[in-house]
Amino acid sequence: MFKNIFVIITIIIIIFLVVFFARSPQDRSFVTFGTGGITGVYYPTGGAISSLINKKQDTYNIKSAVASTGGSVFNINAVLAGNIEFGIAQSDRQYEAYNGLAEWESEGPQKNLRSVFAIYPEAITLVASEKSEVSTVSDLRDKRVNLGNVGSGQLQNALTVLKVFGLSEDDVKAEMVKAAEAPGLLQDGRIDAFFYTVGHPNGNIKEAASGRIPVRIIPIEGPGINTLIVENPFYSTTTIPITMYPKSVNTEDIPTFGVAATLVTSSETSEDIVYAVTKEVFENLDDFKAFHPAYETITPESMLEGLSAPLHKGAIRYYKEAGLLERIDDRLLVEA
Ligand code: GLU
Repeated sequence: MFKNIFVIITIIIIIFLVVFFARSPQDRSFVTFGTGGITGVYYPTGGAISSLINKKQDTYNIKSAVASTGGSVFNINAVLAGNIEFGIAQSDRQYEAYNGLAEWESEGPQKNLRSVFAIYPEAITLVASEKSEVSTVSDLRDKRVNLGNVGSGQLQNALTVLKVFGLSEDDVKAEMVKAAEAPGLLQDGRIDAFFYTVGHPNGNIKEAASGRIPVRIIPIEGPGINTLIVENPFYSTTTIPITMYPKSVNTEDIPTFGVAATLVTSSETSEDIVYAVTKEVFENLDDFKAFHPAYETITPESMLEGLSAPLHKGAIRYYKEAGLLERIDDRLLVEA
């Protein structure tokens, strides 16, 4: 009898403690990471960051989810509209949005945009079918070329590259479909080439290079590209190792230029949430890097480069705590 009463009382106490100490689900914050197409690297990157956050639900009470989206431009606009809390975006699109250039020229500077950290390098990649006889950017004239969907980061890169080589959108038969569709269209002979700004290695380029039709990754280099890089701090030269795409017809690593994939948010996002995301990625960098081979070269220092929108105050709180502030350009610390 006494034993039963003891068991019942113990159960009641346990239930009371659980109810008392557990935070109510109403306190839980839900955050969404805007990424890109599912064949890119943004999508698994959003997944990797989310899984680090979701692992710590007991600490932060944040539930994180990933959305496949049109890419950088879409993500920046969705973050600014308050539809999502975080977005992955190319460093060049981040610069343009904050300064009201290119796709943001009519709306003007997007002063509520905040950077959190840079993630990994992305290369401006041009893939062509062998039978299209494209071996330089100039050969794209009159060819059917996928420049990228509206909302993607690569659309502007494709237009910039064409311009450097004296071409415009009207000099090619331009397609604007999502990167995920491009390998299939190339293999079906419905396009000759496509642009994709993406981390390497990735499934999209592997898919393009693994079909019946042989493909070539086209070098993007020359004096015009060198000038572009000198004039724009968010660009740098890079190479795509052929070992990553053994089925392409290339025999040497492919020179091109690139940007950084970065994480952005809005000044409206809660400081605690941005702090938690920053802290979890920096403090679990080895676990994070194990998620994708494109992250191989990431270091805490590289994650603080290539940013142009001011850092969010939640990110600054973590960098201060981690002793990283002196590595950061003062222009990014307006909220410090
Ligand atoms: N850089 C591309 C964009 O901004 C996305 C690449 C990816 O999804 O990995 O649209």
